[in-house]
Amino acid sequence: MTITKTKLPAAGETLGRYTVERVEALPEMSGKLLLLRHENGARHAHVARDDDNLAFGVTFPTVPKDSTGVAHILEHTVLMGSRKYPVADPFFAMIPRSLNTFMNAMTSNDWTTYPFSTRNEQDYFNLLSVYLDATFFPLMRYESFRQDGHRFEFETPDDPTTPLKLQGVVYNEMKGAMASPGSVMWRAFGKALYPELTYAQNSGGAPEHIPNLTYEGLRAFHAAHYHPSNAFFYSYGNQDLQRVLNAIEEHVMSHFQPQELDVSIPDQTRFTAPRREEVTYPGSDTERGGQVLLAWKLGYSSNPDLNLRWSVLSDVLLGNPAAPLTRPLIESGVGSALADLSGYRDSFREGAFAVGLKGLSSGKADEVENLVLNTLKDIATQGIDPALIEASLHQFEIQQKEVSNAGYPYALQVMFRLLGPWLYGGDPVTGLRLDAELAKLRADLKGGKVFEPMIQHELLDNPHRVTLVVTPDPELAARTEQAEAELVRQLSKDFTDEDRARIVRESLNLKELQGQESSPDVLPTLSLADVPAKVARPEYTTSHEGRALVGRVPQPTGGLSYLDVQVKLPDLPADLLDILPLYAFAVTRSGAAGQDYVQLARRIEASTGGISASVSVGTAPDDLNRNRLALTFSGKALARNAGELVNILHDVIAKPEFDQERLRQLLEQRLAGMKASVVQSGNAYADRLASAQVSPSAAIDERLGGLTALATLKGIVEGTEGQPEDLDARLQDLLGKFSRVTELLLSGTPLLCLTALPEDVNLDLTPITQEFKGDAPVGRPAQNLLPRTPQARTTDSPVAFNAAAFQTVPYTHPDSPALLVLSRLLRSNYLLKEIREKGGAYGAAAGFDTRSGTFSYTSYRDPNIARTYQTYRDARQYLDTDLTSRDLTEAILGASKTLDPLTSPDTVGRMRFYGDQAGYTPEVQEAYKARLLNVTLDDLKRVMDTYLTPDRAAYALVAGKDPNEDTKDLGLKWDVREI
Ligand SMILES: [Zn+2]
Repeated sequence: MTITKTKLPAAGETLGRYTVERVEALPEMSGKLLLLRHENGARHAHVARDDDNLAFGVTFPTVPKDSTGVAHILEHTVLMGSRKYPVADPFFAMIPRSLNTFMNAMTSNDWTTYPFSTRNEQDYFNLLSVYLDATFFPLMRYESFRQDGHRFEFETPDDPTTPLKLQGVVYNEMKGAMASPGSVMWRAFGKALYPELTYAQNSGGAPEHIPNLTYEGLRAFHAAHYHPSNAFFYSYGNQDLQRVLNAIEEHVMSHFQPQELDVSIPDQTRFTAPRREEVTYPGSDTERGGQVLLAWKLGYSSNPDLNLRWSVLSDVLLGNPAAPLTRPLIESGVGSALADLSGYRDSFREGAFAVGLKGLSSGKADEVENLVLNTLKDIATQGIDPALIEASLHQFEIQQKEVSNAGYPYALQVMFRLLGPWLYGGDPVTGLRLDAELAKLRADLKGGKVFEPMIQHELLDNPHRVTLVVTPDPELAARTEQAEAELVRQLSKDFTDEDRARIVRESLNLKELQGQESSPDVLPTLSLADVPAKVARPEYTTSHEGRALVGRVPQPTGGLSYLDVQVKLPDLPADLLDILPLYAFAVTRSGAAGQDYVQLARRIEASTGGISASVSVGTAPDDLNRNRLALTFSGKALARNAGELVNILHDVIAKPEFDQERLRQLLEQRLAGMKASVVQSGNAYADRLASAQVSPSAAIDERLGGLTALATLKGIVEGTEGQPEDLDARLQDLLGKFSRVTELLLSGTPLLCLTALPEDVNLDLTPITQEFKGDAPVGRPAQNLLPRTPQARTTDSPVAFNAAAFQTVPYTHPDSPALLVLSRLLRSNYLLKEIREKGGAYGAAAGFDTRSGTFSYTSYRDPNIARTYQTYRDARQYLDTDLTSRDLTEAILGASKTLDPLTSPDTVGRMRFYGDQAGYTPEVQEAYKARLLNVTLDDLKRVMDTYLTPDRAAYALVAGKDPNEDTKDLGLKWDVREI
């Protein structure tokens, strides 16, 4: 164990009213796990590691018995003011008063958790106090229940003669969620496989059931579940455990008596015969929008042997395109990709395995069912190649060794691994350490077949199976709207005049409360002095190797080696720009150097932790019109396989081999994925489409990954006017373009970066560097802004995503930091209040991309369009209200966080290396920070008047319908197209 700030207690010791029940070494992660129990029953797990990103979480098993969304609405309402912090929205108010690296709350199907992490110790105890007060002592005001849960409101709130409507943040959030096939499937999955258990309920809330939740029901659910006796506490990092426990004791434990609550989930009665369930979601793509998924109930997911074996078997069967279950399913041509939720699922007390296909027309259920079952039969009888099992065990080794904050703080990854078995009464240690189970598995594998009998007994012979048939229904959205109107009519049919007067009164009360300036000054906070002035300067060396510039970064990576090959592209003919993202998607999933995609996929799985390719557009720090395009190949491997990683990346970069049939499969997969993402990320798509009208780099980005990219891809797969008639011809055309991309790529300018343990950092990279022989200069992509017309894209969505964008200044311009601060101020103080709290949207934001210089407003799952655009336009008036220096400080703190992203050994060096090469040096970044700390309120008004005026705005939205009627008073004339 490395240095910790205090000596750790031993098993059996007491710390106040806590007893240390166990201490376990965690050698793979160089840490220790302490399990403690409080006198009143509360459990606490502490992971001591030499990591300064300190984490905390409190988790409550929550097992709703209905679909009113009680657990989810509770999660929202506890974050709306507590005894010690009686402000409207302490959670959002803390975001700008803190330097946290993570803050959130999440409701799953059988638990609710409140985690955070931060690198600042004072901040840790500030956040701890807010989190404990919110969860154990929330005010849960009636108005909060109405605002975020559900309420009746007249269309004109003070006029009872106007139509009644149902409103509420969660109500609207779930209406949006239930419009996406992914959420519909997830809910149907739990209900189909575990019809007797809490999983049969929609824990997020089914829109038609949410109105059944009462305020008293919500309070009772809190009192029963959010109690120390039902709580699982977690702390992590290089910190003083005693100080954390003292804070919890004082704030929480001393105010509670032990309490009994049965949250146990019983066994689901085993089916005697397989079943079939059909569900629909609102969608019009009846040709390709269907999915068929087979799912089996397995044994307890808290059983570590079972959990390990199913994780490995799932990876063997499905882990890569060449895997023995994936490949025949995809090559059958029945569907385009594996169905959502395919794989082993341990987030139920009894686990599940699922597999199926998506991209289907209707009537394919029998075909998919037979295909899956016959393929499984073949695998069980013919046996699994031991090399595939070895490759999956190797993947497992990488997962255990890798310590990365990329994507999600490691501190919280550890929490979720530990909670898995812990919440179901299993041993939390096994979530973090499976060496004994792994040894047992290896021994069993030596003794004979392990996985084939599992396929036979737990899948093929298991009657507890459901075939889930998911179909788009073009009329469902309209029917749901009618049903909602009918529900409103039913619920309100006996309303008296007094009821109507009460609804008006309550609406006005809520409006008044929302209008009140609540003073967040009771909340703890940091000051600008807490913002680190310096940026990290990890050591690295650079050298010229052939035409390549190579950076080598020694870091404590846990034994992994990470290699990035970024190739700055030369000038590119216009017809190749649109296909670059397709090239990047296909190149790592096809064949190379004489091997087909199956052989290459096996090689990747056996020696690496995965490889990927992506396209990016960069902008110079001092000139928004100087852009460059790069294609980047990345991979990671255990150091012992790093040489093979180099060989694989070499083959993929220099000798890719595409074939038409495989390419067709890949394009269909990508199309299905992008289509599904529209209703999940409509705000990002709308933002891109608006920004592309004003920013050169955003215009390229839109063609690479926006709705234009989706349209291009759709044109290739499904055909459009002006394209070659048949698919074969279009694929041939694409293959021709791919060859030209490979050629251009090899004449590009390579920048390689290797991150590894000091002893592994001198890896030979010449197999890659020697391939770059041309001398084409780095290209300057053409600047084709989209026409400056409001763009509306319609799709199957009951809610809207509204964006407006402005072009401003480059990174080194003195006004850039003020724009960043302004985006934070408007987001926390203005937009969330106006659009989320008052307007009922799930989210709203102002964002500033410091590098591309685009400033944008967005809303997420928004029931309004015109109202939201009016709110954007009124932002300037908000700056003339009484803003305090505290508001400014908070906005600066918030802004500084975006400049200091959480890094880890795998990312810190390469970010520095590529940043330095692109001109974003530590000096440039530190100068930015210094300016940021000195931004004034007058600066904010000035930059707004200069850059964010209505005549400079570009508009785009994604919605369910033509917005022209709605927004005609705003003078917006939309160009409307269907997605
Ligand atoms: Zn929510």
